[in-house]
Amino acid sequence: MDFKVEIKCEKCKCSFEFRPGEFVDRDAMSCPNCGQELDPSVFSHLKTGILELAQVPDMIPDDWELFPSAPQKELEFSLQVKGYHPFSDG
Ligand SMILES: [Zn+2]
Repeated sequence: MDFKVEIKCEKCKCSFEFRPGEFVDRDAMSCPNCGQELDPSVFSHLKTGILELAQVPDMIPDDWELFPSAPQKELEFSLQVKGYHPFSDG
């Protein structure tokens, strides 16, 4: 599935995002603006998560879109990554 993870650098207040389709495989990450480094172990989990979630289909069955009029094909699930904020979301 396609999604994005937004990262805000609290040092320089810039933000940037990762999307699976544009994700460059690397071992470390730093802010493109000020160069502040993200803890490599945190980045490792983030990278694993992005690459794993990218393998999850948006729709199940994942060829549903290709045959929308085929009567035997019914959409079973659709999946989406959504933002969550602990202070504003219930
Ligand atoms: Zn920065």
